[in-house]
Amino acid sequence: AVHAVTDEVCHSDECRKMSTTERTFIAVKPDGVQRGLVGEIIARFEKRGYKLIALKLVSPTKDHLETHYEDLKGKPFFPSLISYMLSGPIAAMVWEGLDAVKTGRAMLGATNPLASAIGTIRGDYAIQTGRNICHGSDSVESANKEISHWFTENELNKYNNPLQSLIYE
Ligand code: ADP
Repeated sequence: AVHAVTDEVCHSDECRKMSTTERTFIAVKPDGVQRGLVGEIIARFEKRGYKLIALKLVSPTKDHLETHYEDLKGKPFFPSLISYMLSGPIAAMVWEGLDAVKTGRAMLGATNPLASAIGTIRGDYAIQTGRNICHGSDSVESANKEISHWFTENELNKYNNPLQSLIYE
């Protein structure tokens, strides 16, 4: 089936993938916040043409972070990952736009910053995997899960962006 590329249509994963309303959860981790990289990271998504739907600085509980990373619970680095994520506030955001999940990941770079291309956020500003300054959802499904884990429905803002017609044909 062909789905129109407009707002307020079908919100199935399939439709979101090809629509300008696909959403991803992006977070600046504590090291990124403390290093003063929040503005830089936001600027890259803004300049690319993505639409900011939600934004807050939060100090989540250990429980909240363990649920966020529940798929990694068995990994040896899990405890240090959680204490890293607890080491300061996190800038949590939701960005919306065509292919936001995949493009968001590409903009962040590889998990290991040393393997990240120059020009990506991690490739430009980080060195080690355990201090890789940012998070981005890895699929539309996990984006939906993460967005509702970090934000209430009320915090997901609805507004018209008149630049839309300059960004999309
Ligand atoms: P990504 O954040 O790129 O989706 P993962 O989901 O695999 O990567 O891992 C989540 C986070 O856990 C990484 O961003 C990184 O901060 C940390 N991490 C992953 N692998 C390691 C590792 N081998 N050593 C230390 N920290 C790691």
